[in-house]
Amino acid sequence: MPATVFWFRNDLRLADNPGLLAASQDAERGGGLILLYILDPQELGDDWPLGGAAQWWLAQALDDLARRVRSFGGQLHIAKGPAEDVLTDLAQRHSVVRLHCNRSYVPATCARDASVKRALAANGVEVITHQGNVLVEPGSLRSRSGGPFKVFTPFWKTLVAELESCGQAALTPLPEPGRLRFAKQVGAFRGQCDIRQLGLVDERARWSEKLGNHWQVGEEGAQDRLDSFLQAGIAGYADLRNRPDLAHVSRFSPYLRWGHITPRQIWNRLDQAPSSAAESPRDRAVFLSELGWREFSYELLHQFPELPRANWRPAFDAYPWQENTSALRAWQEARTGYPLVDAGMRQLWQEGWMHNRLRMVTASFLIKHLQIDWRAGQAWFWDTLVDADLASNAASWQWVAGSGADAAPYFRIFNPITQAKKFDPEGRFIRRNLPALRELGTPEIFEPWSLKTPPKGYPPPLVEHGAARQRALAGYEAVRQASEG
Ligand SMILES: Cc1cc2nc3c(=O)[nH]c(=O)nc-3n(C[C@H](O)[C@H](O)[C@H](O)COP(=O)(O)OP(=O)(O)OC[C@H]3O[C@@H](n4cnc5c(N)ncnc54)[C@H](O)[C@@H]3O)c2cc1C
Repeated sequence: MPATVFWFRNDLRLADNPGLLAASQDAERGGGLILLYILDPQELGDDWPLGGAAQWWLAQALDDLARRVRSFGGQLHIAKGPAEDVLTDLAQRHSVVRLHCNRSYVPATCARDASVKRALAANGVEVITHQGNVLVEPGSLRSRSGGPFKVFTPFWKTLVAELESCGQAALTPLPEPGRLRFAKQVGAFRGQCDIRQLGLVDERARWSEKLGNHWQVGEEGAQDRLDSFLQAGIAGYADLRNRPDLAHVSRFSPYLRWGHITPRQIWNRLDQAPSSAAESPRDRAVFLSELGWREFSYELLHQFPELPRANWRPAFDAYPWQENTSALRAWQEARTGYPLVDAGMRQLWQEGWMHNRLRMVTASFLIKHLQIDWRAGQAWFWDTLVDADLASNAASWQWVAGSGADAAPYFRIFNPITQAKKFDPEGRFIRRNLPALRELGTPEIFEPWSLKTPPKGYPPPLVEHGAARQRALAGYEAVRQASEG
């Protein structure tokens, strides 16, 4: 009897997985189910091989998923190589009639998927795709004028209205399949290997070992995070989400990136959970709109596939970026001499994740104080974030640079000292992340260079804030002229 394949991609979960549920129902009627993950080096295109932190996450995530599949009495098959070769070989060796997967929205992956679909059709396999990872399909919403959205707020309002018009079903997660009927005797096929043979654990990336102290990878980890966020994070979120010294953000980003949880599951749980007395009415609305920024990033990538490579606003091509390898290294290695910037960069190195406020402050420092091209920062984040996501990373870097759609105005240059005083008022976050400053009190910790005896082991500022600000503004003059000319 011909089998059905479910191809896991950025949806490493069993619950609320439309492609998996449909495949499991097909398999009940046919020759059973083959569950497959393929590590395809071309998945995101030539320029975006998985970064080190993402590889670490994926290795743990596949272990976790394989364990969960075993608990259903089956096996998660793993392969490495071009997906088209793996899947056509599997289809030719085994009798496969249908393949289900959830859609990806990265342009290079869409192109690859189209060619997989053609190759499988030629082998008599029907490919059925599902919407599994977003609230709405990128490109599906239209502004009042009928064009695509370029501005967040009207995009978000339209998205919410769209979901409301679809009724309860749109926000009701699908159940985990009750059982999985697996295909019998799946023999060898091209690229087949085990998780260890994927080569995901990079020997050079010793730092990745410590990521395990910060994350419980997988679907259960995501649900635990959701529980604790609803208990302790959401109350106060609207005002306190900017405070890296407190624990009011959700840390859902890697779980969403790898599809251990869906935005629909999060939204639904939020709708079901009673609100506590400590919650303000804004908390939930602001939090949900953050999920909206993820959707908006996919919308922008859909409209402009060059988003990770090219300025959304071409006038920014005129910006006089500086080639400065030693400054870039100092930024990467948390040696800028500005405590909040360095504490953020160290959090990234320790945890593979950084608080949103610090992503904005550190990115602004690189782009504006050091005048280093946003693409260099994007590449570093790509390598070191466990939630590295092509759409959100590119859209956010361009937002900070001012070169993106609906971006921060270019003349908004964060002052790293006042940002620290405002968002880490007692210096607790800085102390936690920078051992060299641990003994300093407040307010000295914000400007350690002004002490009579500056702390040992911590560098003086790489650039002086006022002068750097003037240079950045002068640089933007070239952009202004280009946009007028
Ligand atoms: C320079 C820069 C680079 C970034 N790179 C990434 C990236 O590679 N991957 C990534 O997921 N996010 C990225 N972000 C967005 C944001 O910083 C993270 O999503 C957020 O900090 C994750 O923490 P959280 O889950 O606790 O967020 P919460 O505040 O709890 O928000 C909940 C969820 O909403 C989404 N979200 C929140 N803010 C944004 C945003 N500005 N853009 C898109 N989605 C958002 C995320 O999925 C997040 O998990 C970047 C932001 C900046 C400024």
